[in-house]
Amino acid sequence: MSSSKTAAADGGSRLQLPPGLRDGPQGGAAVCRPVAVAAARPVAEPDTNRDFVSIRGVSKSFLSRSGPVQALSAVDLDIREGEFVSIIGPSGCGKSTLMMMLSGLVPVTTGTIRIGGRSVDRPVPELGIVFQQDVLLEWRTALENILLQAEIRRQNNAAARERARHLLDMVGLTRFADAYPHELSGGMRQRVSICRALLHEPALLVMDEPFGALDALTRDQLQVDLLRLCADRRMTVLFITHSITEAVFLSDRVVVMSPHPGRIEAVIPIELPRPRRLAVRETPAFLSYNHRVTEVFKTLGVLREEED
Ligand code: ADP
Ligand code: MG
Repeated sequence: MSSSKTAAADGGSRLQLPPGLRDGPQGGAAVCRPVAVAAARPVAEPDTNRDFVSIRGVSKSFLSRSGPVQALSAVDLDIREGEFVSIIGPSGCGKSTLMMMLSGLVPVTTGTIRIGGRSVDRPVPELGIVFQQDVLLEWRTALENILLQAEIRRQNNAAARERARHLLDMVGLTRFADAYPHELSGGMRQRVSICRALLHEPALLVMDEPFGALDALTRDQLQVDLLRLCADRRMTVLFITHSITEAVFLSDRVVVMSPHPGRIEAVIPIELPRPRRLAVRETPAFLSYNHRVTEVFKTLGVLREEED
């Protein structure tokens, strides 16, 4: 695409952004130049035919005291622009390792990872990352925690503040902007974490079991909140979870992984219409997707039942 602008923070690393993130008249570092008002940002349709993330032949071995441990083997996965992809698999199958490699925080042993056409060989600043545990600073308010993202990127200005407030509105925390983390519930804290991850309008949001520590009802609510945020800004999302229902509810595709070493066992497109409401979980189509994922885990021996 000739009109593509880049998010390169320096001359050497150039990352092509999806159309919805190519704001500003001069091009250049989208991460460093906030748009005027997030609420008024024109949302371009993503090019859903273009692979935005490309993971090819990726494996990962760690050296442990008892010798090498192969965490991942021959992982191939492409994620299109604007797509919501979930990875589901048992503990230890390498989900977090894959996320760390995608973020450029851990090197691959073999293979290549590309984001927006650029090979990942260093930490990728254009990502938004959310972990299972929120990492909020207890001495800063919710709003100040979100603005931390802007401070790190030296873009803490009126526009960033306005975007932070818009994000708080989107997740129902308008009244809690000035609350400290200890005054917030677990779900609210995680909402603040998500807002912080989105403040710089990342091209790719990566979430590693973000709702795993929450009670079931809060988890449902955060799933709904996340879908609303995705509809608002049409970003690409890689979401890691242990929950089959969660993966099916949120995703355009569910990637099922097997353990020891971690491999992609199945990729299941979820063709449920959007916007999705919680009630979709009661439909035959939804239950059939749940069933398909469950069957893969049964075949792998990850889920076992007594024979009748
Ligand atoms: P998951 O997130 O799916 O639970 P991880 O990616 O955390 O799995 O781990 C995958 C495998 O890699 C596990 O066997 C784990 O023990 C091993 N592993 C992860 N990180 C390291 C590390 N830094 N050093 C050695 N082994 C590791
Ligand atoms: Mg993990």
